[in-house]
Amino acid sequence: MSKSLSIGLQAQQVLLPDGWATDVAIYWDAQGVISDVRTSHVDPELEQAHGPVVPGMINVHSHAFQRTIVGRTHSFTSPTDDFWTWREVMYQHLSTIGPHDMERIATELYVEMIRAGYTSVCEFHYVHCDPEGNLYPDPDAMSIAILNAAETSGIGLTLLPVFYQFGGFGEKELQLHQNRFVLSLGDYCDLITRLRDRTNGNPGLAIGYAPHSLRAVNARGIHQLLDHRNANAPTSPVHIHVAEQVREVEECMAVLGKRPIEYLFDKAPVDEHWCLIHATHSSQEELSLVASSGATIGLCPTTEADLGDGVFPLANFLELGGSVAIGSDSNICVSPFEELRLLDYIQRVRLQKRNVEGITSAIGAGTRRYLQTLFGGCQAAGRPLGQVKKGYLADLLVLNSQHPQLRDKSSDEQFNTVVYSSDSAALSSVIIRGKKC
Ligand SMILES: [Zn+2]
Repeated sequence: MSKSLSIGLQAQQVLLPDGWATDVAIYWDAQGVISDVRTSHVDPELEQAHGPVVPGMINVHSHAFQRTIVGRTHSFTSPTDDFWTWREVMYQHLSTIGPHDMERIATELYVEMIRAGYTSVCEFHYVHCDPEGNLYPDPDAMSIAILNAAETSGIGLTLLPVFYQFGGFGEKELQLHQNRFVLSLGDYCDLITRLRDRTNGNPGLAIGYAPHSLRAVNARGIHQLLDHRNANAPTSPVHIHVAEQVREVEECMAVLGKRPIEYLFDKAPVDEHWCLIHATHSSQEELSLVASSGATIGLCPTTEADLGDGVFPLANFLELGGSVAIGSDSNICVSPFEELRLLDYIQRVRLQKRNVEGITSAIGAGTRRYLQTLFGGCQAAGRPLGQVKKGYLADLLVLNSQHPQLRDKSSDEQFNTVVYSSDSAALSSVIIRGKKC
C-alpha cells in the first residue's frame, strides 16, 4: 500500500522538538532513517509537502482484537455494569478469535491507525494460546499474526508479548477464558527470543516485555522476566497495566499491603524504559516515584472514559516533570487527535480552567500536548521515533493546507485546528519510514 519517496521531503514548515522551523529539507536513506535535516534550505529536487509537517504519533497501548467488540458492549444489562462486566463480554468474544482472525483484525485496525495519524503502535499482546489454553502447533502463531499485520499495513510496531500467571491478586486461580493468556516462564522467554531473532535489524519493529499487571503476575514473576531481559536486551521496553480501577487499588492494598505503584516500585527497578499503563488512581507520592524514575505513564483517555475508570491527575504529574503518552487501548477510538482532545478537555472540566498546566508558550496548547505525548510515546516504544532529526525514522504527517478548516492559518494554528477540531481529513499524507501510506 506504500510508495517510496525518492530521498526526502521539502516543507515550508516542520515541527521540530523546539518548535516550528521554516524551509526545511528532510533527507532519509533506503531504510527510511533520516540522514539529514537542513533548515532555511530549499532543495528543488525534493517532493514539496502540501502543508506543515509534524512527526507521526505513537500509539503506546493497543489490544488490537478489542476493536471488534466496539458497539457490542454498550447495552447495559445491570445497574452495576462496570469495567469488570465489560471484561467478561470481552473475554467471551475473544474465544472466537484465532490467528487468522487476529491477523485480519489487526491489519484492518493498523490501516485505520495510519490513516488517523498514528505511525507506530505498541501492541500489548496477551492472547498466546488456543481457546482451550493449549499452545498452537506453531506456538508463535498469534504473535506472528500481529507482526504480519504490521508488515502488511506498514505501521511501526513495538510488540509486547504479555506474561500472565494468575486470575487476580493473591495468586488467584485463572478464570476460564484467561487460560489463553498463560505461558510458562520458559515458553514466554523462548517466544521473546524467537521474535527478537525474527525482527532483528528491522528499524520498524522492536520487541519488549509486558508483565500484564500486579493482578496477573507476582513479584517473583516480574523478577524472572527482568532477569531474562537484563541478560539479553537490558534496554528493551517494559510495559505494565497498573491502578486502572479503584477496586484494583483496594485489592492490592488488602492482599499486598501497599498501593499498586508503591508496591511495584518496592519490588522492581522501574526506570525510563518502563511504561505504566493507566496509573489512573495514583497518590501524590506515587506520582513522585514515577516522575523521578523517568518512566512514562501511558494514558488511554477514550477507553478510560468508556470504562468509567476515573481521571488521571495530569497537572500534578506534569508539574513533577513526569512523562506521558497516549494509547488507544480497547480501540473504541482510533484517532490520536480525539485522544488528545479528550485528555485535555477532561482536565479542563475537572480543574475548571482552560490552561491546565498554567504555563504560557509560543506554540498552541494542542501542539504542546502533541509533542509532550509524542516524546513519552517514543521513550516507551524503545525505538528512534518522534523527532525530525538525523538517526530517527522518517515517520511524518503532512497537513493539507487547502483543507477548508486550515486555509489562511499559520502552521501552528493549522495544527491546533487538527488537534482540537478536525480529523484525518485534514492530513494530506502519512509517511512511514520514508514511504507514503
Ligand atoms: Zn490495556
